[in-house]
Amino acid sequence: MRDDLTDDELERYARHVILEEVGEEGQIKLLESKVLVVGAGGLGAPVLMYLAAAGIGTLGIVDHDVVDLSNLQRQIIHSVDDIGRPKTRSAAERLETINPDITIIEHRTRLTASNAADLFADYDLIVDGSDNFAARYLCNDTSYSLKKPLVSAALVRFEGQLSTFKAYDGGPCYRCLFPEPPDPDLVPRCDTVGIFGAVAGVMGSLQATEVLKELLGLGTSMAGQLLLFDALDQTFRKIKVPKDPDCPTCGN
Ligand SMILES: [Zn+2]
Repeated sequence: MRDDLTDDELERYARHVILEEVGEEGQIKLLESKVLVVGAGGLGAPVLMYLAAAGIGTLGIVDHDVVDLSNLQRQIIHSVDDIGRPKTRSAAERLETINPDITIIEHRTRLTASNAADLFADYDLIVDGSDNFAARYLCNDTSYSLKKPLVSAALVRFEGQLSTFKAYDGGPCYRCLFPEPPDPDLVPRCDTVGIFGAVAGVMGSLQATEVLKELLGLGTSMAGQLLLFDALDQTFRKIKVPKDPDCPTCGN
């Protein structure tokens, strides 16, 4: 581990370093951290931009998709000029303009049961910014078996939810919360029911905050808790989530 920051780093990260809870030591910890973000969409956009700005030393991006005009209503990391380009490339280029000193690794692939463990292996923490249940279960099961913290969020219409899963360390996993994938015909998807764009910014920013807190060991972890955001009422609710002893992933 490095002992101190360069003069440039001290200037770039001055507002972090001045926080006694972060300091030079905390900033070095961030610079030496490796975080994988699954999905460079509505949630991934703010997550990636804040984590790059915060100086996460290695940021991985998993996405197989290309930028579409209909993405730009909320996926603020991409621009009109990126339409038709891989989201990983578009996101990586944007991040390089924010912070050229960090390493960005593009994984231009769909997350599958056969590649998830290999993709996750090199990272300290996983961020789930995916938009479907299959990917969420995969993020959960893989990060559980590799004992890596998972910061997860989801969006629908005017609502968002957020939690952190460290079931290998006690506490529930995503499957404890949602044991079965809902009937695909009943699942609201953002392409069919819509998403109020700025809600992605709210939830993605909260996700980035939790990633930084987890890496630095600051404050209260969201593990074992679920945060629910309702934009129409502008309210947050935090509920406790118990571990399910019969959970197929983390149960006895
Ligand atoms: Zn579980």
